[in-house]
Amino acid sequence: MNIILLGPPGAGKGTQAQRLVERHGMKQLSTGDMLRAAVKAGTPVGLKAKAVMEAGELVSDEIVSALIGDELDAMPASQGAIFDGYPRTAPQAASLEQILESRGRKLDCVIELGVDEDALVERITGRYTCASCGKGYHDTFEKPVVEGTCDKCGSHEFKRRPDDNEQTVRTRMAEYRAKTAPILPIYEERGIVARVDGMADMDNVTAAIEAVLKPR
Ligand SMILES: [Zn+2]
Repeated sequence: MNIILLGPPGAGKGTQAQRLVERHGMKQLSTGDMLRAAVKAGTPVGLKAKAVMEAGELVSDEIVSALIGDELDAMPASQGAIFDGYPRTAPQAASLEQILESRGRKLDCVIELGVDEDALVERITGRYTCASCGKGYHDTFEKPVVEGTCDKCGSHEFKRRPDDNEQTVRTRMAEYRAKTAPILPIYEERGIVARVDGMADMDNVTAAIEAVLKPR
């Protein structure tokens, strides 16, 4: 099984990808990670990518395609792939098709973790942690038992991540939409897009993804 996993930052994509890896022995193919690994390992594609990046240029689709091809060639035919952060453009979607086809694979489905933007803003901007022990809290969903005192260590100092603010969340959502806009219609036309509610409880999201994958 080969799938594309889509979702904006904060939708829990990382957690769900990790669970697919654990439950189904799939491999997560994140282009950023693959690129770093190839550069580090000094593979022919990695050396090419390194030269391009050192020249301050963007890594071409050709290099990314070669990276994915190398990765798939190193995987057993029975191992499924989870594409993460790729493809992002129509030409990339077309090359992915070719890469898979030439290896006797096909794309089974595109799973999008949908979010409600306002709820996501509330979820992200409300979170904070104890400055002393790191325990996580939330303004709405998980307050300390005694206000202003950490349940775990009794500290009165808390901190928030600077990028957990509304503007950042909305900007990331807009970026996400702009990135998926060119590719979603391609897969929708083929009827292989499944939307899962990414705002649900993590275990429920996992169950919904399992249900999507089951009949295939
Ligand atoms: Zn604490």
